Amino acid sequence: MVRTRIAPSPTGEDIHIGNLYTALINWAWAKKHQGKFIIRIEDTDQERLIKGSEEKILQTIKEYGLNYDESTDIGGLYQPYRQSERLPIYKKYADELIKKKAAYFCTCSKERLLELREIRQKQKKIPKYDKHCLSRQKEVQAEIKKGKPFVVRLNIPEAKEIKFKDLIRGEVKIMSDNLDDQVLIKSDGFPTYHLAVVVDDYLMKISHVIRAEEWLASTPKHILLYKALGWPQPVFAHVPILRNPDRSKLSKRKNPVWASWYLDQGYLPEAILNYLALMGWSHPEQKEIFSLDEFVKVFDLKDIKSVGPAFDQVKLEWMNGQYIRQMKNEKLKIKILEFTENKYPENIVGKTIPLVKERMKKLSDYIFLCEFFFQKPEKYDLDLLSKKELLGKMRDSLEKVTEWKSDKIGEKMQELAKKEGVKTGDFFMTLRVAMTGKKISPPLNESMEILGKEECLERIKNLT
Ligand code: GLU
Repeated sequence: MVRTRIAPSPTGEDIHIGNLYTALINWAWAKKHQGKFIIRIEDTDQERLIKGSEEKILQTIKEYGLNYDESTDIGGLYQPYRQSERLPIYKKYADELIKKKAAYFCTCSKERLLELREIRQKQKKIPKYDKHCLSRQKEVQAEIKKGKPFVVRLNIPEAKEIKFKDLIRGEVKIMSDNLDDQVLIKSDGFPTYHLAVVVDDYLMKISHVIRAEEWLASTPKHILLYKALGWPQPVFAHVPILRNPDRSKLSKRKNPVWASWYLDQGYLPEAILNYLALMGWSHPEQKEIFSLDEFVKVFDLKDIKSVGPAFDQVKLEWMNGQYIRQMKNEKLKIKILEFTENKYPENIVGKTIPLVKERMKKLSDYIFLCEFFFQKPEKYDLDLLSKKELLGKMRDSLEKVTEWKSDKIGEKMQELAKKEGVKTGDFFMTLRVAMTGKKISPPLNESMEILGKEECLERIKNLT
């Protein structure tokens, strides 16, 4: 049974777009194998918690349609799914590790650890704990009994090669001497990520640990824990971290990073997921646009490349535009109505869609392009004061249009432009700005037909 998971920490406003990518891969892998996709909340770093973050993360994942089978809000066979509610479980396994001498108590003061760090830095050695407390465990336990703060550390063996297989990166090897005696239980009684992740992945029967590359360096420590506890290891796959187009790590300064930001801008979840699917992976037939179902069918974890792919908003926008173009008008209408919170009348939205669909890249573009249908322009891209006379003539002429259809409006206006000897470009620009406020708008005659005769005449009247 394939069981995958993401394990977000509720320490940000929302789920990071990079974590949404990891979520997509986990979700797709579970779906591909009729397995389960689990969300576990890793809230062991109590100092960094952000209120409301967990709820927002779950809500965003749902809005993207990555439905999950077990989590804090829906429960499941292996609950609780919030690590802060699992403290006794971690303690139990920490005790077991201590008993097996795979872990030990440490009461070293902050000052001593700092000093140690500085010395090692001067010696140009990697900062590492010196196992000072390991050889004096009896003494340490007596200190703990008296109330001295303590941590539990992983007892990393010396000069041992640690190996594991990563589905994306192949065999990974590291010498244990490069690893620090990792704290497993902190002085506040909470586990660190390393202990909690191993315990939970094992107890929750996670078959594939698919996570971001940044955790690759921690995996050897996890391997030691699996071994010490006598547990089988899951399959590991470390997916690449998304990068800005300039190759720097995707960060708030260069790209919006919260997944809900993209939805708020009117990107479609299916387009974003399609785009994310192409991060570090390509369709066997080199297709760029494909459905989530198709992705699930054709993708394989081992085909993901390990080089950091560029997350390019321009490309994403293009892809979103393709999705909008492919959408049935009726469906697009519903999306626009939802996006604009039903602020605009449905029938007008329906009529305007064919005029702007090709130009829309995001749902929010609709507002920019079509706002003038719903409210009179407040400002004008051109100074229309000098055009009063011409506008007056336009009005008289338009008044005579009996059948208010785009072609009739167009004919009448062409006629007038000719009669007045005004260049067509200038003539229609004046009319366009008078109607829409903007120099760029959807096709003018069609727009005027939708606006209606009365409204068009009124808009001109206000300017003359
Ligand atoms: N809590 C970690 C994170 O926020 C989870 C890492 C993992 O998946 O093991 O990325």
